[in-house]
Amino acid sequence: MKITGITLWHRRLPLSKPYWLSGGRLKFEALDSTFVRVETDGGLVGWGEGCPWGETYLPAFGGGIRAAMELLAPVLIGENPGDIDRLNRAMDQALPGHPYAKSALDMALWDIAGKRAGAPLFELFGGAEGEGVAVNSSISTGTPDEMVALIDAARAKGYRTHSAKIGGADIAGNIARIEAIEATLPADENVTYDINRAWVPGVAIQVMQSVAGSARGWFEQPCQTLDQCAVVAANTTQPIMLDECLHTFQDHLDAWSRSAGQGCKIKPNRLGGLTRTRQVRDFCVAVGWQMHVEDVGGTVLADTAALHLALSTPEENRLASWLAHAHLVDDYAPGEGARNEGGMVRLAADKPGIGVEPPEDWLGEPLRHFS
Ligand code: MG
Repeated sequence: MKITGITLWHRRLPLSKPYWLSGGRLKFEALDSTFVRVETDGGLVGWGEGCPWGETYLPAFGGGIRAAMELLAPVLIGENPGDIDRLNRAMDQALPGHPYAKSALDMALWDIAGKRAGAPLFELFGGAEGEGVAVNSSISTGTPDEMVALIDAARAKGYRTHSAKIGGADIAGNIARIEAIEATLPADENVTYDINRAWVPGVAIQVMQSVAGSARGWFEQPCQTLDQCAVVAANTTQPIMLDECLHTFQDHLDAWSRSAGQGCKIKPNRLGGLTRTRQVRDFCVAVGWQMHVEDVGGTVLADTAALHLALSTPEENRLASWLAHAHLVDDYAPGEGARNEGGMVRLAADKPGIGVEPPEDWLGEPLRHFS
């Protein structure tokens, strides 16, 4: 089988409401998504999506994904789509970096691999672990009362794990948010406080030590860099989840060897694809870390691809996943793919590959075709 063509689409995805994070520093109202369809001479096609979480969150640029395709798509044309590891190395040689563009193409190669095998992707990643994957809410930064109200609303949708966005230099304000959430959270629910790198280490240590007796959750990416997070980890007692400072396998190795945290978020778009994310997943299982396996942003396509990897991750290493598509206005495949059903995602065992794809009438006119 050979890759004969790659078609590219661009869609702007409005959020159902503006999203604030990092203590209110960062805001955006829409996502910029790029879709690829990798076509083969056997008639099978694979779908992929590259989508940053807004413009302000990480060094990723929607327009850059499409520009990078000019160099990356020709690398794949004429090649066997099953040579996934080799094609990842070839893309790295043609253009270092640019993980979001590579993630979209790698995702499409895995979609083809699943369809060729007649198996859902989670079976290619090691097989299902448990019946489904718990999903977590995403609670925007606000006053203590606002955040408690958002968690109550998320509970009504079935969520039992919450990602509460806090941050900012206001130490008392952060402690008030944490104490309000802890005071109302039922015993069987979990919360992660996601600082999105808003604190300097001194603030992180002051807040985290102040709530050490009452906060039951993880603290996620308290500071900007891995070095800063390592300082916090050495001076606090709560578990630390690392997210935005991890981009490569080497970053995870450095974080583990320095005891900068006890867990991490692994996201195909940030790490450069399902192939790379699976390598990191297997490393984290080996060292006993816990993970949220999910994607950075995008529609139900990117979410579902990542949830296949989550489902095949051992339950003792797996924390809840989030669904970016739950924040979007548009939904091109209601009920299909990874969906929140009472706080859980169950993936169809009878749909080969990723199991969901964007319809062409929703995508509109292609932007580009490579052949
Ligand atoms: Mg995070």
